Amino acid sequence: MTQMNADNITTNRRQFLSAALAGLSQKGDKQVTGGFVFESQNLGHLIRDRKAFQQPAHREKVPVVIVGGGMAGLSAAWRFGKRGFKDYVLLEMEPDAGGNARWGENEVSRYPWAAHYVPVPNKSSVLVRELFEELGLFRDGRWDERHLCHSPQERLFLHGRWQEGLEPEIAATKNDHDQYKAFEQRIAEFRDSGQFTVPLELKAQLSVLDQINFRDWLKQNKFTSPYLNWYADYSCRDDYGSASEETSAWAGIHYFASREHEEKGPLTWPEGNGWIAKRLIEKAAGHIRKNEMVRRIERAGTSWRVVTSKTIYDADAVVFAAPSFLSSYLIEGGDKFEGFEYSPWLTANLTLDRMPEEKGSELAWDNVIYGSPSLGYVVATHQSVASRINRSVWTYYLPLASEAPAVARKRLLGMDWGTWKEYILNDLERAHPSIRQCVSRIDMFRNGHAMVRPVPGFLGNASRLQAAKGGGGLEFANSDVSGISIFEQAQYRGVLAADRVLRRVGRR
Ligand SMILES: Cc1cc2nc3c(=O)[nH]c(=O)nc-3n(C[C@H](O)[C@H](O)[C@H](O)COP(=O)(O)OP(=O)(O)OC[C@H]3O[C@@H](n4cnc5c(N)ncnc54)[C@H](O)[C@@H]3O)c2cc1C
Repeated sequence: MTQMNADNITTNRRQFLSAALAGLSQKGDKQVTGGFVFESQNLGHLIRDRKAFQQPAHREKVPVVIVGGGMAGLSAAWRFGKRGFKDYVLLEMEPDAGGNARWGENEVSRYPWAAHYVPVPNKSSVLVRELFEELGLFRDGRWDERHLCHSPQERLFLHGRWQEGLEPEIAATKNDHDQYKAFEQRIAEFRDSGQFTVPLELKAQLSVLDQINFRDWLKQNKFTSPYLNWYADYSCRDDYGSASEETSAWAGIHYFASREHEEKGPLTWPEGNGWIAKRLIEKAAGHIRKNEMVRRIERAGTSWRVVTSKTIYDADAVVFAAPSFLSSYLIEGGDKFEGFEYSPWLTANLTLDRMPEEKGSELAWDNVIYGSPSLGYVVATHQSVASRINRSVWTYYLPLASEAPAVARKRLLGMDWGTWKEYILNDLERAHPSIRQCVSRIDMFRNGHAMVRPVPGFLGNASRLQAAKGGGGLEFANSDVSGISIFEQAQYRGVLAADRVLRRVGRR
């Protein structure tokens, strides 16, 4: 569990608000419009507060119900399609499926609301390769260049200017460089050990590395360079939404050691992983029921009853692809998922009417500001082949990682749009002094339980291992069952759950 004392919380809160308020509107700023999107917290709170609801009159018998239309639920549906199985419905509470791979579009570009890339899959990521071949991303032994991230991919704002790449270089000392090298060597050894796989279920096993946090592991191994420690912390916040001291050292190492060296990639699109979601949604056409939130799941002998506000479904099996912690609220007699923590995130899409001035390396796809609590921004128009881009959409990513999740969640929902707008512009202003003259619109997505955190001990977490086993016609499929929230894990769990369900339905 996250350990935070009251002093820490107060200090963080003060720092947080002063960062938000320091840049409050100055004269001559462009007017910025926008608002919050996907505000479904109130729906979620109906479940949390176990609010009574009217049982629907409509009843339907269907062999399989998939709960949740994120990448895991959509991947289960993909597997059903590949196996020629059509007797299922997928229930999604939001107006559209996609979950964390949702996307949007305006007059300037399509853009992601959360997930925005997939690394070029290793040979061991068999399912990802199968899907990507089917979608035409991999043909005749080659990745389609249009979907590989164009150069320049990443840059870092440090000491007043932009540098290429994310490993801090400006003013790096010999000691920093020695430590980068030593760290790379350790990571290469871990990679060679073969246990840091994607999906991690292929080889991951209980490990002492999972008993400590990543920051302590760095300290124990004499990795003291502030630059290296920043980079490690940034990586944890990037993939897991948690600081390095809240992340299992095993997971921290997995981020670096799980990928074979690949010159190319990652795969990315203007709408991020929405590009994949859209195609999976098309494949599941006719099976997806949107705006249909599951309120209750009950056992009925050896079958299941899934209740929404519209329909009671009598099913032989359920693929539970909504976040697993919801099961203790939704499933009759459902287990509490002890030790599962979820990171709150704010993402924002900024529409720019012109590009700001800047110093140093040119605009990249991924743009990170050293020392910022945010991860910076990704440029939706980056893959465009146009020689000059005047207008763009930037997706700004902020994991609320510096506080205990429950405290951060309150702040996320408690701060109004105007205060968040100032927070974001003030953060970006460090690297782009003229940003306020460029941005005309900022839309924001507040996601309270955005992704599971691989906290120390996650590999051996009893609830996680129990959920991963499944059985009894109810299969947990959300990526959180793997303890790591990435596309590959969502797909793996979705497909695994689909296969288990098919075996059960087949037997019947
Ligand atoms: C800000 C952010 C950035 C990310 N970036 C990347 C990235 O670049 N690359 C990457 O690989 N991964 C990224 N991820 C991780 C991402 O979470 C996974 O890749 C993946 O999309 C998770 O899919 P999922 O299906 O497991 O869960 P989710 O996407 O959370 O899907 C759960 C679904 O269940 C639905 N649901 C919930 N409750 C109910 C109910 N009661 N009834 C019906 N439906 C319900 C939800 O609406 C949702 O659609 C990012 C995550 C975040 C938050």
